[in-house]
Amino acid sequence: MTAQQSFDLFVIGGGSGGVRAARMAAQRGARVALAESARMGGTCVNVGCIPKKLYSYAAHYAEAFEEARGFGWRLPAAPTLDWPALKAARAAEITRLNGIYEQLMTGAGVTRLHGHARLAGAGQVSVQGEDGQTQTYSARHILIATGGTPRRPDVPGGELAITSDEVFDLPAFPRRLLVVGGGYIGCEMASIFHGLGAQTTLVYRGEQILRGFDGEVRDFIAAQMQQAGVQIRTRCDVSRIEAGADHAARRVHLTDGSVLEADAVLYATGRVPNTRGLGLDEAGVRQGKGGHIEVDERFATSAPGIYAVGDVVGRMALTPVALAEAMALVDALFGPAPGQSARAMAYDNIATAVFTHPPIGTVGLTEEQAREGGRAIRVYRSDFRPLKHTLSGRAERTLVKLVVDDASDRVLGLHMVGADAGEIVQGFAVALQCGATKAQFDATLGIHPTSAEEFVTLRQVSRR
Ligand code: NDP
Repeated sequence: MTAQQSFDLFVIGGGSGGVRAARMAAQRGARVALAESARMGGTCVNVGCIPKKLYSYAAHYAEAFEEARGFGWRLPAAPTLDWPALKAARAAEITRLNGIYEQLMTGAGVTRLHGHARLAGAGQVSVQGEDGQTQTYSARHILIATGGTPRRPDVPGGELAITSDEVFDLPAFPRRLLVVGGGYIGCEMASIFHGLGAQTTLVYRGEQILRGFDGEVRDFIAAQMQQAGVQIRTRCDVSRIEAGADHAARRVHLTDGSVLEADAVLYATGRVPNTRGLGLDEAGVRQGKGGHIEVDERFATSAPGIYAVGDVVGRMALTPVALAEAMALVDALFGPAPGQSARAMAYDNIATAVFTHPPIGTVGLTEEQAREGGRAIRVYRSDFRPLKHTLSGRAERTLVKLVVDDASDRVLGLHMVGADAGEIVQGFAVALQCGATKAQFDATLGIHPTSAEEFVTLRQVSRR
């Protein structure tokens, strides 16, 4: 085997975690290869965070056009969406990002391999290139960062549904959209496509959407989405899907006996790890429930020299988590950057946003989690009509909420539903990371007039 075929680190997968690990390791002087069979950037860049956020911006314009009237603007005619133009603009931006990710690899001196990689014996990886030829490489360390893929529906007619992989590029804009699933993707897509002009229905099998989020946040966002015009049908699921009369449309039979017509049925019922064809069993890499690769606290799998990070591990399927896991692994394998100490991965106080309309921002414990084990807490909350909507005419309200440990006064959880919640909660996440108390929130002066200032002026208390 030549020097060109032997590496210190071989990364399988060119998404957020894989690219970050490859670049950081190469910067530490390691010889690194990265294999990716599709476009660089993984889910986040190609069919996740980035296109989703771009479409969310597009959808917000519809609200802005409506609200503008209240501020004295007279729009010449009802604006209409040019769906092909939006798709083309998105595609051009994603192609630009794919190029940047490629450059990150070449710029860092990473050997970029195009093709499907497979574990091929101790310290070996084989890559089947686009020409069908297989080449084998050796590596001291192998990192699996292959991410995840949407779970396909297993109801009769499920093949007539689409997933988030296809929704951004639908040939025709779906005038009527049925979304199945009440998690991150289902709620975001329902809000976004409703904003873009689709008549949108979301069906969710449970009591309330966004299981795992703060109970009050769930009720509040459901009410806001419904008031905006998204139909939410809880305790309801799909029993079968058929092609409609004109073939393009879908007839969807629901478990409550009703039938809905839709132009597209979007399944957002979770994601599964991308492990097919990796040769995990033969290599002795153990998978847990749901097929996720099992790793220890140092991201080592059950097979020596093989590691995994990101969605394929499935601790938290979030881009910043994959990035942080990748950096912690590189520090452990190749040492930290000069002058810095090795990073460790901590999963508490990870802030997250759901880009519904209005968005949710959250960090720390929900009220329900904080109360577990009988802990005494104080809850501060306020919901109000934001200043902007006094003139816009929109009925949308904002919720801010703090969950505070009664004994130590420490803020355990911070939640917001309202415009820019993601931007606002990112800043407060630093305060929670530092262990801020309610007294320190109170000692902070607000920025007036903002919605965020509510977090430092909360007086309303309920002891629970
Ligand atoms: P989630 O796990 O968040 O939600 C899946 C939803 O589908 C839940 O409502 C779940 O219901 C429901 N569901 C699961 N299985 C079935 C089934 N067989 N039949 C009917 N309903 C079902 O997955 P998503 O696909 O929405 O997103 C995957 C992950 O991606 C998220 O958890 C998140 O980590 C990440 N993500 C993050 C985003 C962000 O940061 N803004 C945006 C998008 C994704 P139940 O609650 O009853 O289990």
